[in-house]
Amino acid sequence: MVRIDGIAVAAKVMEETRIRIAALAKRGITPGLAVVLVGDDPASRAYVRSKDRKAAELGLHSVKKELSADTTQAELLAVVAELNADPSIHGILVQSPPPPQIDEAEIVKAIDPRKDVDGFHPVNVAKLAMEDPTGFVPCTPLGCIRLLIEAGIETAGRKAVVVGRSMIVGKPMALLLMKRGLGGDATVTVAHSRTRDLAAVTREADIVIAAIGRPNFLGADHIREGAVVIDVGINRIEDPSTPKGYRLVGDVDYDAVADKCAAITPVPGGVGPMTIAMLMSNCVSAAERLNA
Ligand code: NDP
Repeated sequence: MVRIDGIAVAAKVMEETRIRIAALAKRGITPGLAVVLVGDDPASRAYVRSKDRKAAELGLHSVKKELSADTTQAELLAVVAELNADPSIHGILVQSPPPPQIDEAEIVKAIDPRKDVDGFHPVNVAKLAMEDPTGFVPCTPLGCIRLLIEAGIETAGRKAVVVGRSMIVGKPMALLLMKRGLGGDATVTVAHSRTRDLAAVTREADIVIAAIGRPNFLGADHIREGAVVIDVGINRIEDPSTPKGYRLVGDVDYDAVADKCAAITPVPGGVGPMTIAMLMSNCVSAAERLNA
């Protein structure tokens, strides 16, 4: 069994990104990333802090906008408009989930698609579906494909089952796996909460991508001998033996399936580090394209 090391692959992506940043610096360009946080959800705050820290580490121009929980839709749209117009900013993201008074879909549509480094704008969703490489692809599924490529896992002609159909992970993941070329050309099935006999569906798969949001949900019964498993899930479960009182587990019961797998990503240390590395890479791509 190969344990796919997301920390090592993320470090490689960051190194490539550093080289691209140095090339831009020679032209007097510093990629700028703006992360907007509305409200004080602790998990969102932690994500924003780590994105800001990584951007700063790479020498990006990093702007963190923290808005109060009672920010109105109009106020948030005004912040997005300001960032769209700011030439020092190449990537914009609004941390999800926003408070209930905010219409998230409208906010995503307001972001200039050329600065939409999360790849959530309808223009970028369409470009992914159309296999147009000028769009931005959501960072987590992009990171999963990179992990498969780096681990030398053939996807062409193989059966992949994606469990989850969210716009952030499941759907773009399926589109990437069925895309023509390296890391694609798979025969893809998408499963979700209405799928009948999920275990029978996932047992057919050479490659299982789990993006469900339920701790240790896929067990030995779901995975066939020799399958490759990419576990996107990040779930907190109580664990009084740890200093924080909780620990992170994936959507796959790692201990139950690892011995059956040809390769598997751990949680933490698998997909998680890739997401942030791909975000930095997307931000540098935005700076390159806006200055082409
Ligand atoms: P969503 O809640 O948006 O989507 C979950 C999907 O799982 C839905 O499509 C849902 O089906 C499906 N599902 C739920 N229950 C079942 C079930 N019993 N059987 C089959 N399918 C089921 O979650 P996300 O896609 O945003 O995230 C998924 C996981 O990935 C979470 O643990 C999240 O924390 C993690 N994540 C990790 C990231 C990383 O960087 N590693 C980044 C983003 C997310 P239906 O559509 O029918 O409701």
